[in-house]
Amino acid sequence: MEIKVFVEGPVDANNYLIIDEKSKEAVLIDCSSGRQEFINSIKNSGVNLKYILLTHGHFDHILGVDKFKEVFGTDAYIAKEDIEQVELTPKFMPILAGMESVEIKSIHNYLKDGDIIKVGDIEIKAIATPGHTPGGMSYLIGDKLFSGDTLFHRSIGRCDFPGGSLDTIIKSIKEKLFTLPDNTEVFPGHGEKTTIAYEKKYNEILNL
Ligand SMILES: [Zn+2]
Repeated sequence: MEIKVFVEGPVDANNYLIIDEKSKEAVLIDCSSGRQEFINSIKNSGVNLKYILLTHGHFDHILGVDKFKEVFGTDAYIAKEDIEQVELTPKFMPILAGMESVEIKSIHNYLKDGDIIKVGDIEIKAIATPGHTPGGMSYLIGDKLFSGDTLFHRSIGRCDFPGGSLDTIIKSIKEKLFTLPDNTEVFPGHGEKTTIAYEKKYNEILNL
């Protein structure tokens, strides 16, 4: 398995391309831009992009999905609880990113807690981690966790956007993520990677 990171979009979100080297099938976790250079990088990887899995519906993680659907024919999947966030995209782009409003039209596929997605020999488990948004989803592949905007290196996602809840995000992290093995590597939606052991020890917000 190979993991490639692409930092894209107006708020520098991490997009993770996960490739099954044998079958060349791949999945993209979050899709924050439809920039031509980003598209070309995926094309040049020579992969068959099977799924786009979204960690949540905020605009800075989903802006590329329509372009990716057009170019690669790949469908994007999200938790149903976050459709409202997707619908808020045109409203939030001017306010939060100073960008023109764009409506995202191609998200019509849903997944839920416990779903398993297969890409070649890779199994991806969807873990519902609400709090940053109601439909926040983390994805686990073996000992690697893709945590979206739920858990960051020494921080957590903000909860002051519509549908956010501090109590809920803390519960999600403590019950769903901190119960994973300590050596689990964490690949967040923004910033550098970390581990479950490190966050248990040094995450100031969760240790309050
Ligand atoms: Zn977010």
